[in-house]
Amino acid sequence: MSLHIGAPCTPTVTVGETVSLGQVIGDSKAPISAPIHASVSGKVVAVEPRLHPNGSKVMSVVIENDGLDTLHESVVPHDKEDLTDPEVLTGIIRRAGIVGMGGATFPTAFKISSGLNKVDTVIINAAECEPYITSDHRTMLEHPDELLEGIRILTKVFGLSVAHVGIEKNKPDAIDLLSKKCGDDIKIVPLPTRYPQGAEKQLIQSITGRQVPPGGLPADVGCVVFNVFTAYSVYRAVYEGMPVIERVVTVAGDSVNTPSNFICRIGTPLEYVFEAAGGFKAAPRKVLMGGPMMGVAQFDLSAPVIKATNAILAFSGKEDKSVKNPTCIRCGKCSEVCPMCLVPMYMYMYERKSDLVSLERLHVTDCIECGACTYVCPGRLHLTQSFRTAKEKLRAEKAKKQAAAEKAEKEVQKV
Ligand code: SF4
Ligand code: SF4
Repeated sequence: MSLHIGAPCTPTVTVGETVSLGQVIGDSKAPISAPIHASVSGKVVAVEPRLHPNGSKVMSVVIENDGLDTLHESVVPHDKEDLTDPEVLTGIIRRAGIVGMGGATFPTAFKISSGLNKVDTVIINAAECEPYITSDHRTMLEHPDELLEGIRILTKVFGLSVAHVGIEKNKPDAIDLLSKKCGDDIKIVPLPTRYPQGAEKQLIQSITGRQVPPGGLPADVGCVVFNVFTAYSVYRAVYEGMPVIERVVTVAGDSVNTPSNFICRIGTPLEYVFEAAGGFKAAPRKVLMGGPMMGVAQFDLSAPVIKATNAILAFSGKEDKSVKNPTCIRCGKCSEVCPMCLVPMYMYMYERKSDLVSLERLHVTDCIECGACTYVCPGRLHLTQSFRTAKEKLRAEKAKKQAAAEKAEKEVQKV
C-alpha cells in the first residue's frame, strides 16, 4: 500500500475476495497519492504488514495468483475525446496509479495539476546515467512508438507543442531510432555521458540552461520532467486502459549468472526475479534495489518489486571497497565532484556532531544523494548515507519545532 511518495493507500479488498488483473486494491483520498492495482488475478489470502524494500513493514495485500490473468472490467481503452481535456486526462493518469517510475515515485497526476499554467517546457528523462541500469534503454528500443505517443499526451496536457527527450550519447541506437520515428513535435537531445546527468536539476540545466534555485522545483523555472517508463505507462493507461501493474527491471551485478532485463509484475518477490536471471554464481555480499550509486541495500529477498524498482543488482565481495576505519585525508575530491557544489567533508563532520545549524548553512538539503562523493572518497567515508541521516535529523527537528509552536498557540488561545 506504499508504492509512491505521499499518503499510503488503504486496502479496498478483504481476505477471501477474488480479484482481477488491474482491479484497484488500495486507494487514498489524499491529493498526493496514487491507487494500487492487482498485478495478477486470484484470491486475496492476507491483508497485513509485509516487508517493503525500504526495510520497514507496510500494509500489504497478498494475492494467491490463479495464473489466469483475468482482466478487470475497468481495463478498457479510453476514447480519443478524453485526450483533449487536461482534467479528464489527469483523472485517467491518477486512476491508472502512475507515479515517477525513474525512482522518485511522485504521483504523476499531481505533478501535472500543480504544473498547469506554469510549465513551458516538457522534458523526458531518458539519460539513465547510473552504471548497470538499462531498463529505460530497452523500453526505448522495444516500445518506441508507444513511448512517443505517451510523450505527446504529456506535452498536450500542458497545452504545449514540443517536448525534449534527453538521452546520454552512450545509447546511440536509442537516439537513432527515436530521431527517425519522432516528428517536429519531439526533439531528441543527445547529452554527454556523465554522472549524474539524469538528476532532474542537472538535466534541466543541460537542456534549457535554466537553473532550479536551491530548495526549488522544476516548475519554478517553467519545466516539468517525466521519466521514460512514466511516459510509456501514460500511453498504456490511455490507449489500453492498463494501470501500472508491471515495469521493466534490470537484473545485473557480478554475482548474477545471466544479467537481463525483465518485465516484472509489481509485487514479485526479488528472489523470483534473481531466479529468472539464472540465480547467483555465489551468495552475493550486497544486493541493491536501484543503481550502484543511489540504490538501497536489501537484506531480505522476499521484499517485492515496487513501482520504483528500475534495477536490482547483486555484487560479490570483489566490488566491496569498504574499510574498517574510514578516515578523511582532506583531499577535497568530494567537493570537486559534487554536482550541487556542496562541501561533503564538512557536511559529514557536522552530521557526526549533529550540528544542525551548520548543516543547514551548508545546504545539506540540496544534496541529491547522487553518491558521487562517496564513490571518489579515498578515505571510504559513508558520506551519502550521513547526508540522508542529516536530512532526516533536520526533518525531525522541524516537525518538533512545528509541534511546539502549535502547542504554544493553543495555550495562548486558551488564555
Ligand atoms: S573525498 Fe573523502 S577523504 Fe577526501 S576530503 Fe572528501 S571526505 Fe575527506
Ligand atoms: S551525494 Fe555527495 S556528491 Fe552527490 S549531491 Fe550529495 S554531497 Fe554532492
